[in-house]
Amino acid sequence: MITPSKKAMGIEYAIRDVILPARELEKKGVDVIRLNIGDPGKYDFQPPEHMQEAYCRAIKEGHNYYGPSEGLPELREAIVQREKRKNGVDITADDVRVTAAVTEALQFVFGGLLDPGDNILVPSPSYPPYVGLVKFYGAEPREYMTVEENGWQPDIDDMRKLIDERTKGIAIINPNNPTGALYEKKTVKAVLDLAGEYDLPVISDEIYDLMTYEGKHVSPGSLTKDVPVIVMNGLSKVYFATGWRLGYLYYVDPEGKLAEVREAIDKLARIRVCPNTPAQFAAIAGLNGPMDYLERYMAKLKERRDYIYKRVQEIPGISAQKPQGAFYVFPRIDERSKWKNDFDFVMDVLHEAHVLFVHGSGFGRAGDWHFRIVFLPPVEILEKAMDRFEAFMKKRLAE
Ligand code: PLP
Repeated sequence: MITPSKKAMGIEYAIRDVILPARELEKKGVDVIRLNIGDPGKYDFQPPEHMQEAYCRAIKEGHNYYGPSEGLPELREAIVQREKRKNGVDITADDVRVTAAVTEALQFVFGGLLDPGDNILVPSPSYPPYVGLVKFYGAEPREYMTVEENGWQPDIDDMRKLIDERTKGIAIINPNNPTGALYEKKTVKAVLDLAGEYDLPVISDEIYDLMTYEGKHVSPGSLTKDVPVIVMNGLSKVYFATGWRLGYLYYVDPEGKLAEVREAIDKLARIRVCPNTPAQFAAIAGLNGPMDYLERYMAKLKERRDYIYKRVQEIPGISAQKPQGAFYVFPRIDERSKWKNDFDFVMDVLHEAHVLFVHGSGFGRAGDWHFRIVFLPPVEILEKAMDRFEAFMKKRLAE
């Protein structure tokens, strides 16, 4: 037997790991309602027409070559303009790197920053690659708590306790996956202040930045005076183009503290050659183009958010914070006597009610006894799922 790498074998991705048992049921003819993956393209959301046209046109016009490793200059300029409009950041195209979506930006940032023995602060709960990828690079993800009763805002004191001489940065995900939290301006400022105290960069995942319901997203990039910030964003959520795999990172680094990290990231960018060329033309059209589609899509999402939140509140044995951004709700399992843990709960829901959620512990230790529901599908589907789930809970709690 040829042995695989232990690093790779240690990787877990809860969101997709739960699909295998769902598939087994589907093979037997069971109709499973999948509420596990945050992919708008699977439902009634598509990238806007002008982006689709630009993508097709780029292919037809022969833009099918390798581009520069850092991304096309026109796109980097469009990113500068978009980020100036959104965050008021003082950056140039030289500060921008185009990536194969935020996932590759994460590989670049962790790969460029971390050596074995280093650690980095990541939120708990958080999007699984923040733990899995950091470990893959031989470093230690240190999970800081976010406080459910406080709308899942980060616990700054907990962050402080985790910092030591091998800490290389603080990562925040805002709006958050899986909690749907939107961080208050004072929280973002407190993270920056803490990072400044220990001379650490802030790594800011802003992939859901314009997907908010009541409040508005505040970037650390727009507040920093001296603390280096690496912002990551892309086409997957706000531009509804998950499958195009295009994103970017940029540096807001007023004192040039990231010069060497930038060089390391550029080495990683060169060894993977370049991002998808025609998709970059679509990105230019998207970032420079009209955003009226987003208003329509956000109105649909808000209706779905309101619906799911109402239903979740009415179901016995669970409770939830109201999501302020993204398209997830992360309820807590309050009645725990019927299950061994949150995974056992999610599997029971799957096999009994035929609805697929993701177990909260798959998002880190603060996710224990929680589960994530994706509310992207139309209300009719959410209704069917919640009817099944409610009947399941009532039955279990009566047993
Ligand atoms: N970051 C967060 C917080 C996410 O929720 C996701 C996808 O769900 C990603 C990054 C991955 O995004 P991309 O499609 O840009 O790789």
